[in-house]
Amino acid sequence: MTISHPCSKHYDSIEAAVKAAQNAFPGWSAKTPQERSKIMSKLADLIEESLESFAEAESKDQGKTITFARMVDVPRAVYNFRFFSSSILHQTTECTQMDHMGCMHYTERTPVGIAGLISPWNLPLYLLTWKIAPAVACGNTVIAKPSEMTSVTAWMMCKLLNKAGFPPGVVNIVLGSGLKAGDALVSHPEVSLISFTGSTLTGQHIIERSAPYCKKLSLELGGKNPAIIFEDANLDECISATVRSSFANQGEICLCTSRIFVQRSIYKDFLRRFVEAVKKWKIGDPSDPTVDLGALISKEHLAKVKNYIKKAESEGAKILYGEGIDSLALPPRNQNGYFMLPTVIAEIADDSCCMQDEIFGPITCITEFGTEEEVIRRANGVKYGLAATVWSSDVGRVHRVAKRLKSGLVWTNCWLIRDLNLPFGGMKASGIGREGAKDSYEFFTEVKTITIKHT
Ligand code: NDP
Repeated sequence: MTISHPCSKHYDSIEAAVKAAQNAFPGWSAKTPQERSKIMSKLADLIEESLESFAEAESKDQGKTITFARMVDVPRAVYNFRFFSSSILHQTTECTQMDHMGCMHYTERTPVGIAGLISPWNLPLYLLTWKIAPAVACGNTVIAKPSEMTSVTAWMMCKLLNKAGFPPGVVNIVLGSGLKAGDALVSHPEVSLISFTGSTLTGQHIIERSAPYCKKLSLELGGKNPAIIFEDANLDECISATVRSSFANQGEICLCTSRIFVQRSIYKDFLRRFVEAVKKWKIGDPSDPTVDLGALISKEHLAKVKNYIKKAESEGAKILYGEGIDSLALPPRNQNGYFMLPTVIAEIADDSCCMQDEIFGPITCITEFGTEEEVIRRANGVKYGLAATVWSSDVGRVHRVAKRLKSGLVWTNCWLIRDLNLPFGGMKASGIGREGAKDSYEFFTEVKTITIKHT
C-alpha cells in the first residue's frame, strides 16, 4: 500500500504513489500560496506538540543523542515547515519593460509536478522535511523516500498529515531500500524532478538513471570539510566549536569538519588543548541527556569507520586520542554496541585516504601549515567542496581566504549557523544545485517568460 499518509512497504508501490500524486496535483497546485501555507503551519504546530516523542523515536532509531534530537533534528523539522510556509508568501517574479519595442516581459512560475525526494539516515526527519516543505509550498505533490534504516519519524509524521489538512495524495511517503524504492522513484517517467541528499556515489547513479528523462536534479552530496585555524584565532572559541564541528552527531553530518589545518606557530598548543577538550566529551547511552556522543548508525558503518583508523596507523600517522589507544574509556555497557571514541589523528599526509575520503564518523585529522597561500591550496586539494570554516581575527584575511575556497559554504569564526533564506549546497563532487528560500522556489517551480506587446 502506498500512499498518501499510510506508508508503503514495497518498492512497486511507487506506481501507486505516482497515481495518488497525479490525482492530487490539480487540486493542490490550484490552491493559493496562503491556503498551502496554512496547512503547512498547522503541520509544524502538530510536530512541535509531539516534539518529545519525535525526539525519542529519532534517537532510538538512529543512535543519536536525545539531546541532539531535541535541540537540532526535531526543532529544525518544525522550522522547515514554518519557514517555507512563510517564504512562499514572499516570492515574486520578474518583469522588464522594452519601451522602444512597445512591450513588456514577465516571468510566471508554476509547480513542476511530482517531486521525488530522497534523504539519508543521519538527520532523518530534518532532511526529509527540508525537501518536503519547499516542494509542497510551491504546489507540487511529492513522493518522499526516507532511508530504510531510519524511517520511523517519517512514518510518525504521516499520521499528522490528515490532521494538518493535507489532502490525500499530496505527501506520499514510500518505504523501501534505495536500490529498489529509490531506484524506482528516480527512474519513473512521471516523476519530474529529484531532490536527493546522500553519498556522492549514489548521486552519480541518480544522474545516470534520470538522464533519459532530463529530470531537474538537486543533489546534496558528501563533504570532506576543512577547518583553517590561523595564529590570530580566538582559540577558546575555536577549540570548543571545532570539537563540536568534528564530532557532533557522531561525525555523521555532511558539514562536519574532518581536516583541521593549524598554523605552525600555534600547532603544539592547539593539539594539546584540542585533545584535552575531546577527552571531556561523554560517550554513552543516547537516551542519557548528559551524553555528547551516541551510537553510530550500524555495525557495518562502525567497522568501515574504524578501518580508517587502522589504515592511518599503517601509514605511520599518530592517533592522539580515541579508538585503538584508549578503548577502555568506552563505558563497559557500550562496548558491544555501535559506539566508538572520538578519534584525533595527527602527522598524516594530505594524500592519505583519511584526508581524502568522506569517513562520516567521529574521526578528525589535524595537520600544520605555514602560509595562507599554502593552506588554501591544501584545503582545496580534495574532490569535495561542501563546507569550510576559517578562524582568524583578521577580517581582511577571512574575506580573502573565504573567497578562494572551493566550497559551497564558508563559516568564519563559527560553525553551522544557517539562514534558510540563503543558498545551501556544494561544489565539485559535493553536489549540483542549491536549496534555500529563493533557490528552492526556483528549483521546485518551472519558469516561463511571457512577452506582451502593448502598443
Ligand atoms: P546513500 O547515498 O547511501 O543513501 C541516501 C539515500 O539514497 C537513502 O535514502 C538511500 O536509501 C537512497 N539510495 C541508495 N541507493 C539508491 C539508488 N540507487 N537510487 C536511489 N536512492 C538510493 O547515503 P547515506 O544514507 O549513507 O548517507 C550518508 C551520505 O549522505 C554521506 O555521504 C553524506 O555526506 C551525505 N549527506 C549529504 C548532505 C548534504 O547536504 N550535502 C547532508 C547529509 C548527508 P536506503 O538507505 O534506504 O538504502
